[in-house]
Amino acid sequence: MSFKETALEIIREKIRGADWIREPLVGFADASSAHIRGIRSSVADDHLMPEDVLPEAEIIISYFLPFTKAAGECNRDGDFPSQLWADLYNKTNELIAEINEALVSALEEAGVKAAIPAGGFDTDRLLSRWSQRHVAEAAGLGTFGLNNMLITKSGSMGRFGSVVTALKEPCDLPMTEELCTSKAGGKCLACVKRCMTGALSEGGFDRELCYSVCKKAEEELGADVCGKCAVCVPCAVWD
Ligand code: SF4
Ligand code: SF4
Repeated sequence: MSFKETALEIIREKIRGADWIREPLVGFADASSAHIRGIRSSVADDHLMPEDVLPEAEIIISYFLPFTKAAGECNRDGDFPSQLWADLYNKTNELIAEINEALVSALEEAGVKAAIPAGGFDTDRLLSRWSQRHVAEAAGLGTFGLNNMLITKSGSMGRFGSVVTALKEPCDLPMTEELCTSKAGGKCLACVKRCMTGALSEGGFDRELCYSVCKKAEEELGADVCGKCAVCVPCAVWD
């Protein structure tokens, strides 16, 4: 059995009872692929490389925990993120930490080295030194939408996690199909219309304006989230 099946079973077990999460997705990114090697140019010049996390890196296991439509509804109204949305963010972080630990343990029991990437969010430059979404893109899980979310075959509303491993198994290739309607040349812009600050526009993204909302949410709700542009839009939840 491929470790992908084992990873799915581990994740399913960990999310049992988390009724805001649907069936998870798992992809394998080749640590030496052009997508992974190019992350320093596309995200940050000091973004961690897989070998910075694990010298024997071969495959990055990337997974997506898609949220339910009902979870998004709690953040539909108003011009500030909801307390429930912030709570779901924190609870999902706890699950991601547990899943990562369980994946590493299972691999180590099988004699395969693995490590959890620690690159956090740099609040000065507003960049991540381990971009879960870019890693997930390299693992074939989806393509970026106008709202900077990665749109997967299950939608874009949810959370990603990853573990760097010395596994030697076939990897996935990045998706070639464009999943964002606007980027594909159609009319949507639903995410832009939902952004109450103007941080998101058809022409780009104002990182600082967006972070100002997240920071206020951290002070008031206990999580640096917003996500108004990620919920109740056509690409949020696909069955
Ligand atoms: S809401 Fe529409 S424009 Fe925005 S990311 Fe989703 S598909 Fe693209
Ligand atoms: S997260 Fe909030 S502030 Fe940032 S782009 Fe989306 S809707 Fe706008």
